[in-house]
Amino acid sequence: EPEAAIKFADLAMYQSKQLGKNKYRFYNEALNAEATARLNIENRLRKAIEDEHFVLFYQPQYSLTTNRVIGVEALIRWKDPEEGLIPPFKFIPVAESTGLIEPIGDWVIKQAIQDLPAIQKLAGEDVVIALNVSAQQLKNKRFYDDFTRLIGIAQHKPQNYEIEITESMLMEDIDHNHSQLTQLRDTGFGVSIDDFGTGYSSFGYLNKLPTDTLKIDRSFVTNIDTEPKELEIVTAMISLAHNLHLSVVAEGVETKEQMEILRKANCDIIQGYYFAKPMPLDELAESGLFE
Ligand code: C2E
Ligand code: CA
Ligand code: CA
Repeated sequence: EPEAAIKFADLAMYQSKQLGKNKYRFYNEALNAEATARLNIENRLRKAIEDEHFVLFYQPQYSLTTNRVIGVEALIRWKDPEEGLIPPFKFIPVAESTGLIEPIGDWVIKQAIQDLPAIQKLAGEDVVIALNVSAQQLKNKRFYDDFTRLIGIAQHKPQNYEIEITESMLMEDIDHNHSQLTQLRDTGFGVSIDDFGTGYSSFGYLNKLPTDTLKIDRSFVTNIDTEPKELEIVTAMISLAHNLHLSVVAEGVETKEQMEILRKANCDIIQGYYFAKPMPLDELAESGLFE
């Protein structure tokens, strides 16, 4: 069928474009299966957005200097009536490539604003909710306008919110992201660079970035207690950050040993399964982590 032939050629072209310039790809059955799976997720995701079938989990961030919880990171889950909780890696990439990340992001902001007072009751007035924001959301001027308007209505302070953007997304369009983040930061929001060390870190930019915090990626933390070279890298990252007056969060801390090593290396904040996993708000309230 001509229509099918064109559709398959199109899929192959799409693949080849993803691989970069001057590439060619032949169509095969797997490409079709992949595209069908994505389309299926996309359609179900549209419905989930309509029905608000999402839930925000919160993972505490623990300060190694004050020995208390100083913030929580909001992590979305898709609550599917049939499949149950679906983790973000299964739908965020589809959401990003279809533009659906924007309505999803709107829902995240709305929910976080709704949850802040309860989290403040647990962790104090100054607690910070960290929100993951993708470059596409940040690009749209509406993001800033909506966010500031909504916290204005709720009478919340921007200081209670932190925007997390991954290093690789940040670097993709550094000039534009720079001005958006500057505006957010000038208003009082916190800004942190997520997954630090995994993107094309340009140290030249680091001191010009409107940033408060570096989040060292889990991949560096995982072997910190077994591989001396990993510790060297993390130690260097921490002192680099401190020299630039940035605070440091170590992600993915899973053991007491890792925590103790990070404490010795002057890391400011830890986040990871050792202290607490991400959990829904009611569980957070009953966790006893704030006593
Ligand atoms: P991320 O921002 O790097 O979030 C940290 C991820 O590491 C979370 O996975 C968290 O559950 C997991 N994690 C935390 N501590 C540990 C640990 O000790 N060990 C291990 N193995 N893992 C740990 P999660 O919740 O599956 O989220 C995955 C990614 O999805 C996030 O990575 C973030 O990039 C994205 N994401 C989550 N929520 C949102 C959202 O609301 N908007 C957007 N745009 N992206 C989101
Ligand atoms: Ca994050
Ligand atoms: Ca991260």
